[in-house]
Amino acid sequence: MTTTTPDWTALAASVQYPTELLIEGEWSAGSTRYEVVSPIDGRIVTEVAMADASDVDRAVASARAAFEDRRWAGMAPADRKDVMVRWAHLVNDHADELAVLTALEMGKPAREAKAIDVRACHRTLRWFGESIDKVLDEMPKVGDSSWAMVEREPAGVVGAVTPWNFPLTLETWKIAPALAVGCSMVLKPAENAPLTALYVAQLALEAGLPDGVLNVVNGLGSVAGAALAGHMDVDIITFTGSTATGRAIMTAAAQSNMKRPYLELGGKGANLVFPDADLDAAAAAAAWAITYNAGQMCTAGARLIVHESVKEEVLTKVLEAMAAAQPANPLEDDAPIGAVASARQLDAIHGIVVEGLGQGGRLLMGGEPVLTETGGSYYPPTVVDGLQPDSLLAQKEVFGPVLTVLPFSSDDEAVRIGNATDYGLASAVWTNDLSRARRVSKALRMGTVWVNCYEEGDLTVPFGGVKQSGFGSDKSLHAMDKFTDLKTTWIELP
Ligand code: NAD
Repeated sequence: MTTTTPDWTALAASVQYPTELLIEGEWSAGSTRYEVVSPIDGRIVTEVAMADASDVDRAVASARAAFEDRRWAGMAPADRKDVMVRWAHLVNDHADELAVLTALEMGKPAREAKAIDVRACHRTLRWFGESIDKVLDEMPKVGDSSWAMVEREPAGVVGAVTPWNFPLTLETWKIAPALAVGCSMVLKPAENAPLTALYVAQLALEAGLPDGVLNVVNGLGSVAGAALAGHMDVDIITFTGSTATGRAIMTAAAQSNMKRPYLELGGKGANLVFPDADLDAAAAAAAWAITYNAGQMCTAGARLIVHESVKEEVLTKVLEAMAAAQPANPLEDDAPIGAVASARQLDAIHGIVVEGLGQGGRLLMGGEPVLTETGGSYYPPTVVDGLQPDSLLAQKEVFGPVLTVLPFSSDDEAVRIGNATDYGLASAVWTNDLSRARRVSKALRMGTVWVNCYEEGDLTVPFGGVKQSGFGSDKSLHAMDKFTDLKTTWIELP
């Protein structure tokens, strides 16, 4: 990856990328086309092919054929590893293009897309690629007269439906483990963020991934996504997105061929700040956790649950840090935060803020769209205090830079508020008391709890939720298990 900073605006004007569907290793026109609109300025970036159900059928048939003839699953593991590692390096070689496409399609600063999303894509492909020839099957001890083998077989054709907030990262979290175990795939990227997916798929072909192993069908969730979720010849559907769509996907899976669904859904994360914590560090992290990616993170620290004795001190520091995180053009290298992903997302964020404030509370910062003269979609850091834990803004996922402040007076109350949503994705505990850190983190019903940090982790640890945040973690070796079936072969020796 180059460490130099390109002229992002110039690159945005010159970058080349595919705009068709990828089926059987060929770029294929869809039934129709649709416009990709940039949230930077509301301009049309390009038109891409849009898949309908018949295009999804073609893509699934291609993935099925690739799976059945074992052109990928049957390749020597070391050779499959080489393809994926080569692909990872190509991602690095094209980091600037991928970063600028991310900025164009969903509005995050290109600088951040390069540092975080492209790096995650590279590392994920490399990590799972390198795992391919290191994961072993089992041979239990069953006595002298028999052999038993427990093998992990690739599960078949995997459908993946992904969102726009970290398009590269979240697609690769599905693609890399599924392909590493030998499955074939059909990816349906978010309708407003297909360009990075198509670019990465193009690099896969260049790296030597056989035709048909990875197919990409851009299109609407209600059409292409639904066709994939309800398809009779897809074995697994893996999804990241909203809880409402997750419910529809689970229903479609059950009503079709009972394919296995894996769902990474919404969240309402929190920073729980205790009086004995490093308050500077806690406040800085709390401000970052709700402004990073313009708050469009399933793990966003959307609630500041802070002990009443330090509330004013922490809040002052949080407001100061958030005030510095104002939106700007994502192609400017020093943009603190970028645009929100679309005009629709902007309306959704503002609608929840207005409705939430209708229940009371004090608006301490933000609360209105900004930079409207650009034609883009920008929402400023927004902080609301004085609401109850069961209020709309303390419960509903906003998916924008909107922080709700909730005081507590005891550890039990902090845990109660922390757990009092339908979600269970991730939260952080801030304390220098190790016993409290352990007690509180254990009591929080979350897939991930960070102690004295936010959003830390690497590929070795699983990422997923409990409750209505879903099930079936991405990342770590556990992610490979998801895309396999256990098969027992029992051999009776003569
Ligand atoms: P979304 O659910 O609207 O869309 C996600 C994907 O699902 C898109 O590709 C969309 O086209 C598709 N889709 C929509 N309707 C569908 C249907 N009926 N059948 C099949 N597919 C359909 O979500 P979004 O607005 O793109 O993303 C934001 C949501 O994603 C938030 O709720 C956020 O918390 C969640 N998210 C979760 C994680 C996680 O790991 N848990 C990570 C990022 C985002």
